[in-house]
Amino acid sequence: MSLRPYRNITRRTSRKIMVGPVAVGGDAPISVQTMTNTLTSDVEGTLEQIRRAAEAGADIVRVSCPDEAATQALREIVRGSPVPIVADIHFHYKRAIEAAEAGAACLRINPGNIGAPERVREVIQAARDHGCSMRIGVNAGSLDKHLLEKYGEPCPEALVESALEHARILEDNDFREFKISVKASNVFMAVAAYRGLASACDYPLHLGITEAGGLRRGTVQSAMGIGALLWDGIGDTLRVSLTADIAEEVKVGFDILKALDLRHRGVKIVSCPTCARQGFDVVKTVETLETRLAHISAPVTVSILGCVVNGPGEARETMIGITGGGVGADRNRVYIGGVSDHNVGSAEMIDHIVELVEAKAAEIETAGQGEV
Ligand code: SF4
Repeated sequence: MSLRPYRNITRRTSRKIMVGPVAVGGDAPISVQTMTNTLTSDVEGTLEQIRRAAEAGADIVRVSCPDEAATQALREIVRGSPVPIVADIHFHYKRAIEAAEAGAACLRINPGNIGAPERVREVIQAARDHGCSMRIGVNAGSLDKHLLEKYGEPCPEALVESALEHARILEDNDFREFKISVKASNVFMAVAAYRGLASACDYPLHLGITEAGGLRRGTVQSAMGIGALLWDGIGDTLRVSLTADIAEEVKVGFDILKALDLRHRGVKIVSCPTCARQGFDVVKTVETLETRLAHISAPVTVSILGCVVNGPGEARETMIGITGGGVGADRNRVYIGGVSDHNVGSAEMIDHIVELVEAKAAEIETAGQGEV
C-alpha cells in the first residue's frame, strides 16, 4: 500500500531495447536525450557540445548525419563521447550503414523512407552486425503523402498509422530493437498520437513535442505534453526540443521527470514566490543557488522560504531548509532533515547553503544513493 497513492504512476509495460549501454523501455529509468547543432564534420565542436550535454545529465545524444563527411566524423565522435550516440539519418540508406559501422548506438531512420526492400534489409543487417538499435521518428510536419491524402491533414490517427507502417517493415524483417516517436508541435496532437500508439504496440516510446519554441514557451509546451504522457505512465525516453542551448533541453527534461518523481537528478529547490514578509532576498538567493549548485548530480532537496508562514512546513519535507526570520531581522533559520537546527545571517547564507548541499550530496554518493 502506497503512503501517498495520489503520487502513483504506473508505467506502461514496454519492451526493453538497448541504446549502447543505456536501456530504454521496460523497467529502465526514463532517459533524457538531446541533439547537437554543430556541423557533425566538426568533431571537436560536436564533442564539446556532447560533453556539455552529458555534464548536464544527458543519457544519450543525437547527431545528424546528412552526408558522408558526417558519418566519417562519427567514428571519432563515438570514440570521444561519454554517452551513446544516435545517428540521425534521413532517407539515405548508405549513411545509415556508414553510421552503424562508425559505432552509432542507434539509428534514427524511418524504414519506409529508405526505398527498395533490399536496401532496407542492408540497413537492418548493418544494425544487427554492429549492435545498433533504431528509432522510428514520425513527425506531423513530414507525414507520408498517402496518409495526408487519406486523412486530409496531419492528425493523431495519421501519425499512429505512419508509425505502425514503418514498424511493420522492421517486424517483417524480424527486427524488433527499436523505439518510436510520433512528434508534433501541437500538444493536443502529439499527446493523442502517443496515447494511441501506446495502446497499439508495446515498443518503447521516445517522447517529444517538436518545434516547441524558445526556452520559456518550449518548456511550457514540453512540460504539458511530455508531462501529461509521463503522468499516464507513457514514455521511456524523452527529448525536450528548445530553440536554446542544448544543456537547457537536458535540464528541462530532468525538471519534468523530477516534478513527477520519476527521476531525481541534482538539487530540487522548493521556493516561495516572495511577498512583503520575506526576511531576505529570496529571488536573488534562488537564482544564485541554481547556478552554484548546477554541478551537483545527487538528489538533494532544498527549501528556500522567505518567512515562517510556509517555511517550517516546507522545511519538514526537504533535506535542507531555510526560513527567513522576519523583515530586517537578518536571522534566518536553517533546518536539517526537517528539524530546526541553527541560524544564519543573510550575508553568509548562500555560501552556507552551498556547503550544506555539497556535504549532503557527498553523503548521498557515499551511501550509494546517487542519481537515479
Ligand atoms: S513564505 Fe513568507 S515570504 Fe514567502 S511568499 Fe509565503 S508569506 Fe511571503
